[in-house]
Amino acid sequence: NSFIELNLSRPLLRACEALGYQKPTPIQAACIPLALAGRDICGSAITGSGKTAAFTLPVLERLLFRPKRIHAIRVLILTPTRELAAQVHSMVEKLAQFTDIRCCLVVGGLPTKVQEAALRSLPDIVVATPGRIIDHLCNSLSVGLEDLAVVILDEADRLLELGFSAEIHELVQMCPKRRQTMLFSATMTEEVDKLVRLSLNKPVRLEA
Ligand code: AMP
Repeated sequence: NSFIELNLSRPLLRACEALGYQKPTPIQAACIPLALAGRDICGSAITGSGKTAAFTLPVLERLLFRPKRIHAIRVLILTPTRELAAQVHSMVEKLAQFTDIRCCLVVGGLPTKVQEAALRSLPDIVVATPGRIIDHLCNSLSVGLEDLAVVILDEADRLLELGFSAEIHELVQMCPKRRQTMLFSATMTEEVDKLVRLSLNKPVRLEA
């Protein structure tokens, strides 16, 4: 039960070491191999379980072996609030610190022009709240989802509670059909289940 056994590359192992992670948490041990195998994942996991690294490490591993940069987002991480988006963004930057993978934060409350410039600078990963990223995707010709490989819906129960259902469905519709989708939620409500059925393909269910 170590990060080495999870077949992660050297730069990611170094980052885990730098962060003081000695071994994977249960959700990481369960999620990382399945995510690396390309499966869709529906995880019941609360904050504190290590879920952020559970979805970020396999995503980074996949991007490390991507042949070349084209001008499109590869990974979209949707979160319900600006605060959570900022936390996830910071976690991604820490785990990616020994790679050249770039992550950008797109949330309400930050200047649109600054985010527009950040999106144009070829980020691999975008961490966003739903409303703001839709604004950018609909009003900008500079960035799109045509090369998107992975979508992550973090805290799906709160995304729905906060009324983002229509936005999530709109975003999922904009994503390529051939993609990997991972959804995490503290509670599995009927609404969350409906979202799982609509946006995930034969998901593996995991509990932290
Ligand atoms: P999360 O559940 O993603 O919000 O993570 C909660 C906290 O656990 C964060 O501060 C992480 O840095 C930390 N963490 C994540 N994975 C591990 C690990 N394998 N070992 C120790 N701490 C971890």
